[in-house]
Amino acid sequence: MRSGFGCQSCGSPAVRLPAVLHEDAPIACDRCGCTLMAWGAFKRRVEAEAASERAEPAPGRGGRAAQAGRR
Ligand SMILES: [Zn+2]
Repeated sequence: MRSGFGCQSCGSPAVRLPAVLHEDAPIACDRCGCTLMAWGAFKRRVEAEAASERAEPAPGRGGRAAQAGRR
């Protein structure tokens, strides 16, 4: 199962965070060391993935939520 994130060069999901986190700080691949993206973009991507996971209906419960999303 993929987490939805991987280095474009080597495919590793491991990232090396910069010492000081700010919007434009570069996130580097922990395996090959290439720069992946800025911390700001990375943070928004992680937050978007977390939000989409919460939005998915849990199996066996949440009937009300499922009906609310249906038209
Ligand atoms: Zn890499």
